[in-house]
Amino acid sequence: MSTTVEVSRADAEAYVGELAAAAGLPAVAVTWVDGDDGAAYTRDGRHEIVLGRGTLRHPGRLRFTVAHEIGHLALGHTATALARRGAVAYAAEALALTAGLLLVAVALPVLALAVPLALLGHLHAMLRTRLWPRELAADRYAADAGAPITLAGQPYDGSRFVHALFPSHPGWDARRRATAHA
Ligand SMILES: [Zn+2]
Repeated sequence: MSTTVEVSRADAEAYVGELAAAAGLPAVAVTWVDGDDGAAYTRDGRHEIVLGRGTLRHPGRLRFTVAHEIGHLALGHTATALARRGAVAYAAEALALTAGLLLVAVALPVLALAVPLALLGHLHAMLRTRLWPRELAADRYAADAGAPITLAGQPYDGSRFVHALFPSHPGWDARRRATAHA
């Protein structure tokens, strides 16, 4: 019979502190939630990492998740930085696209069907060009910190439907390949 040794929250938070110090970041707060995933935020200059309690049962996944999220903080991947890099431009483009297609659809109503598809395609292009490079950079940061994505084992559980609709990260295989070639 095998038993899974669960990492304690104190040890996990000590690891967060260790990587934060190595990155030269001031204190990083840790918030625990359900799930097996992680997220990182910088709000008003304060850094926070959100960690799924499920990672405590998988030391490798915990290490990779923490290192990836510290990578986002160390590399300055804040919502503000993303907005500066084009979220407003993205919204303007989406609006122009919708208006343009609706104008055409007045003449040819069947084209109204193209509006949601065009918006979805535009959203995916935005995620690929603006979010995915950040995710791969955070993966590379984790690998350099000694916690490559290969430690994480299985892909994260998010629903395939949600990922198909809103692919916030590159696919798992693509991430593993990118880390292996880095
Ligand atoms: Zn990420």
